Amino acid sequence: MHMRVAGIELGGTKTLVVAGTEGRIEQRIRFPTTSPHETLAQVSAALREFDAISRIMAVGIASFGPIRVDPRAADYGTILATPKPGWSGADVVGPARIRQDLPINIDTDVNAAALAEHRLGAAQGCANVIYLTIGTGLGGGILVEGIPVHGVLHPEVGHIRTRRAAGDAFAGNCPFHKDCIEGLISGPALAARFGCDPATCGPDDARWVQVARDLAELLAILILTHSPQRIVIGGGVAIGQPAILEQAGRILPDLLAGYLGDFDTARSKATLVLPKLMEDAGPIGAMLLASAGEGCTPVHGKLT
Ligand code: ADP
Ligand code: ZN
Repeated sequence: MHMRVAGIELGGTKTLVVAGTEGRIEQRIRFPTTSPHETLAQVSAALREFDAISRIMAVGIASFGPIRVDPRAADYGTILATPKPGWSGADVVGPARIRQDLPINIDTDVNAAALAEHRLGAAQGCANVIYLTIGTGLGGGILVEGIPVHGVLHPEVGHIRTRRAAGDAFAGNCPFHKDCIEGLISGPALAARFGCDPATCGPDDARWVQVARDLAELLAILILTHSPQRIVIGGGVAIGQPAILEQAGRILPDLLAGYLGDFDTARSKATLVLPKLMEDAGPIGAMLLASAGEGCTPVHGKLT
């Protein structure tokens, strides 16, 4: 049966609500993410509108984190401590339940995007997949055997501390850790590091080599820990500056120093790819979560 579902991507700056079947978006509404009260009221209204067009059978939520994704936890679907004003402790599942019997499934925006790229995008046929976004923040979703990783919470790749380049004195701008990788190469970190809007720096600017080196440190850690066959890298910084990805791909085999056998430049290039679904990866991932059912791990197989 082809079930009609809704997907919500709750992002740091914008929110997207979509509806459709089999991972195909048929309706979409987009608005800025403001206060939890205002934003979640708009989410409920969009879901009611889509439900009135044709009945929605399940909802998936792809949310910014940190968020409780364990369905057995008392605070399931609640945003944990975040610097985002007003959002700590916000329940994002409640406002989405527009009918008592409506199943809801939730994961991080990046785990959902990884799921979408795995099923329908740039990581098809790969068992272990990582989806990174380098934008306002730096986030990472991880699939092992096609299943999103949960555990003590969920992966928080952006807050890994990487080895710093010799002579690099930038303090970093993460409010929690200063020079974690998000504090070094997210869009706002680059603005602080460069002293200008990173979008104004051309592809040949020498500073991108330093950024690529920092990214390559993260990629080496992720490859050594999770053995992903593909790392899909999206977000405004990665898409706006393709030179970063290209250079990181060249540096990576040197960092691995021959340890993974044939992980040469060609293999590196094939592993690091841009998203195929682009900005629809999150909302399509949310629809895939909906199809899996409330609190269910999405598993391989036919979409319903
Ligand atoms: P979000 O992470 O909020 O979903 P984006 O993925 O669009 O949003 O990322 C926004 C960030 O990307 C901003 O910090 C912006 O400075 C940065 N950015 C946008 N375009 C470019 C570009 N061409 N080069 C470098 N950075 C860019
Ligand atoms: Zn951090």
